[in-house]
Amino acid sequence: MYTGSCLCGQVQFEISGKIDDIVCCHCSQCRRAQGSAFATNANVNSTDFRFTQGEDLLTKYKNNDKGDKYFCSRCGSPMMAKIHATPDKIRIRLGTIIDDIVERPTAHIFASSKANWEEICGDLPQFEERG
Ligand SMILES: [Zn+2]
Ligand SMILES: [Zn+2]
Repeated sequence: MYTGSCLCGQVQFEISGKIDDIVCCHCSQCRRAQGSAFATNANVNSTDFRFTQGEDLLTKYKNNDKGDKYFCSRCGSPMMAKIHATPDKIRIRLGTIIDDIVERPTAHIFASSKANWEEICGDLPQFEERG
């Protein structure tokens, strides 16, 4: 069981299953959405995910026809995305998880889109686009 929250703590959630497909995405959309060099995103099963507080404080941003991004309307923390093609998954923003996790990132994706000031470090495989 993992717990997580936004920066202000008003939105809180629990994950009762495992975390899958952890990737660091360096695409320009993820960089803007996070205000950072990359986003670390992962899948959890919708059935393993539940809000324990503050779900009504989430605001949805329709990023494109593929899905929506959700963030806390109080503090602006990016929380998750729901992709229409995979309604049984929640694409969690991994930095919102409070607990230490056992799963690990598997790859850097859209490495060819990285900011010119960023150096990707470490031994994880790097893919030009999707892995
Ligand atoms: Zn918040
Ligand atoms: Zn991305």
